[in-house]
Amino acid sequence: MKHNISITTVTESKVKNVDFNNIPLGTTFTDHMFICDYNNGVWENPRIEPMGMIPTHPAAMALHYGQAIFEGMKATVDADGNPMLFRADKNAERLNFSADRMGMPSFPEDLFVEGLKQLVDLERNWIPPIDGSALYLRPFMYADEAFIGMRAATHFKFIIMASPAGPFFTKRIKLWAENKYIRAASGGTGEAKAAGNYAAAIRPTEYAKAKGYDQVLWLDAVEHNYIQEVGTMNIFFKVNGKFITPKRDGSILDGITRMSVIDILRDKGYDVTERAITIQEIRDASLDGTLEEAFGTGTAVGIAYIQEIAMGEHTIHVSDKSPVGLEVNDTLNAIKTGKIEDKFGWMVKIEKQLV
Ligand SMILES: *Cc1c(COP(=O)(O)O)cnc(C)c1O
Repeated sequence: MKHNISITTVTESKVKNVDFNNIPLGTTFTDHMFICDYNNGVWENPRIEPMGMIPTHPAAMALHYGQAIFEGMKATVDADGNPMLFRADKNAERLNFSADRMGMPSFPEDLFVEGLKQLVDLERNWIPPIDGSALYLRPFMYADEAFIGMRAATHFKFIIMASPAGPFFTKRIKLWAENKYIRAASGGTGEAKAAGNYAAAIRPTEYAKAKGYDQVLWLDAVEHNYIQEVGTMNIFFKVNGKFITPKRDGSILDGITRMSVIDILRDKGYDVTERAITIQEIRDASLDGTLEEAFGTGTAVGIAYIQEIAMGEHTIHVSDKSPVGLEVNDTLNAIKTGKIEDKFGWMVKIEKQLV
């Protein structure tokens, strides 16, 4: 179904002021945004308009009760300069999973993809034409109804912003296995990309950084023994030639990079098992020399190699001899830039000038 998205463009694009070789992280936004309002049980007035401030009532329920969720994805270009999205249908599905958990309305998945396509089409000059760079896309939904009281809101906004992002120079990261604070418990909101999850992670992450670590490795809420994920990435280990990653148990985020990495690894002939993994077994594997590789996966960085993990007074050292993850990262990037065949059917092409 073709949605009727009204478009108001800026008179002059700011893209000429941007140095694609030096993009400040997260503070540069494109000329336009996509907006849609939820009133009286329906999403209405989908539109693209100039990026700008949105008047917000001080009683907007998202500010008080936290009904706010988001997505993160990237647009890239192929060799001919045609913009493409990666598995946009999965982001649409996950947004609605998060919405359901947080008592928010679902957003039509075809309108989610159509809004992304039209916005990216309009902002195609903002996609950095540099290897490893991309246009980061941030779809999000929040309760903008002015009401004091505990119930689901009845007015929401769904917005997509776009922000050019430079290549991520991946150094090997050091993790702090957190044994006091937790990110998610069974039955909680860990599997939703809900704003509040990130607020709760900020202070523990600051503490880990003050101790000299890059990210927190989150452990389960009950025993502080089962590995969940790292910062805003899922985690993989290679032990004795085989890959393992924590299984989805309701407390980890269902990463789209995670599911894609599992497919690529299996396609390359590797064994991948999703199961419960304890930090103790990873330490044992490190001590007996079978821990061959560890990396995080997420849209922002792709694959981030792990160098070591602090576990109380112990340090788990990760070998760097077996860079299968780097190979997977190259495959992922080659698919996203059309350099190799998209055999999984993941890319969503944006044809010339939709708008
Ligand atoms: C977004 C996110 C991920 C990674 O998901 P991708 O879809 O691969 O980007 C992993 N963990 C958390 C907590 C996240 O918020």
